Amino acid sequence: MNAADLPPELARPAKSGLIDAVRAIAQGPLAGRAYAIDRGAYPVDLLKQLAATGAMSAHLEKPDGSPGDYGLAILAMAEAAKVCGATGFMMWCQCVAGLYMQASGNPALMGEPLARHIRGETLGGTGLSNPMKSFAQIEALLLKATPVEGGYVVNGTLPWVSNLAPNHYFGAIAAVPADGASAAREMMFMLRCDAPGVTLKTCPEFSGMEGTGTFSVQCKDLFVESDDLVADPAKPTIARIRGGFVLLQCGIAAGIIQGAIDSMWAVEAQLGHVNQFLEDRPAELQAEFDALAARILKLAETPFDPSTEYFIDVLDARAHGAELCLRAANSALMHQGARGYLMSSEVQRRVREAQFVAIVTPAIKHLRKEMTRLSAEEMPA
Ligand SMILES: Cc1cc2nc3c(=O)[nH]c(=O)nc-3n(C[C@H](O)[C@H](O)[C@H](O)COP(=O)(O)OP(=O)(O)OC[C@H]3O[C@@H](n4cnc5c(N)ncnc54)[C@H](O)[C@@H]3O)c2cc1C
Repeated sequence: MNAADLPPELARPAKSGLIDAVRAIAQGPLAGRAYAIDRGAYPVDLLKQLAATGAMSAHLEKPDGSPGDYGLAILAMAEAAKVCGATGFMMWCQCVAGLYMQASGNPALMGEPLARHIRGETLGGTGLSNPMKSFAQIEALLLKATPVEGGYVVNGTLPWVSNLAPNHYFGAIAAVPADGASAAREMMFMLRCDAPGVTLKTCPEFSGMEGTGTFSVQCKDLFVESDDLVADPAKPTIARIRGGFVLLQCGIAAGIIQGAIDSMWAVEAQLGHVNQFLEDRPAELQAEFDALAARILKLAETPFDPSTEYFIDVLDARAHGAELCLRAANSALMHQGARGYLMSSEVQRRVREAQFVAIVTPAIKHLRKEMTRLSAEEMPA
């Protein structure tokens, strides 16, 4: 990729300035809206403000060709997820949509469109759960693409895609059948929610993450022009970005874990005399979390490491993050007791957010399946 193609917005403020800016939004307006977001209010204005700090583009390559800072993007996401896990998740959606656009090398998706995405003027997400499960032989691809003059016609339905509204877009993958000239493959594209043939359908009510702008996306004879192509075939690009894709999700887990630990300390003076009989006490969890965070930030230094060993390590860190999320959120509820069980309490909300980290693709079961498969491949014959 040519550095001259990259928008100047990628020249980002210093690390501490960015984290301070995200923290100010998180502890201020986001904290005031977290309950409403949990109940279904999609915070489009806050997402735009967060994007404008550079939090959702810190990981992207810079105009001078220097690499992006995945660790900074993870830390920024954690600052928001500590207060609202749903917002942390939507930041991840925006982060990976930008990653797809930049990785495409397609001038129609880079330049000004990428600059607008980085500035938060446009928002997007990712519909890769189904393809990732398909690549892991968990389910079949749901979108089918037929090559036509100037692009493809796509049909099929994705059951859940987040951070969407009628004028948003997201990265998707469709199966292309074999024909006389080429073998079966997958192609990746940016799916525009306002394109003719696309319908956003309201999902059934979830137990959490209601404010994440999540829709079922139906495609009926959607024409995808070559300007919207991210990768064709898709697999080499997916192989290149998969480490960063999974690693960035650790920011959601990190925020939820730290938020849970903080809420245990918040009742320590009053309830420590009895809470001392619980397992997963805050000091123990903090030590485990600090070690995990250090490991994640180390992995974040080389997000494009192509080795299988590196990817297994990323999957393992992501699985540990999900497991620790569940334990920390659950223990925080045990520590806080009835006050944490109030519908208005962040403590019970975090239990549902932690459960989401454990089931969103790659879910814990998917992570373990992939680690088992890849480890078997790595074993010497
Ligand atoms: C709130 C929310 C937001 C999400 N956002 C995104 C997103 O932005 N992008 C994205 O790609 N994915 C998104 N997902 C999907 C998510 O990443 C997982 O794929 C999903 O949670 C299921 O993963 P799983 O591995 O547990 O699969 P499982 O649930 O174990 O298995 C999935 C299989 O079960 C079937 N199934 C699922 N639900 C039902 C049902 N109600 N009745 C019958 N069969 C069913 C499916 O067809 C599929 O074959 C979202 C999910 C939720 C709940």
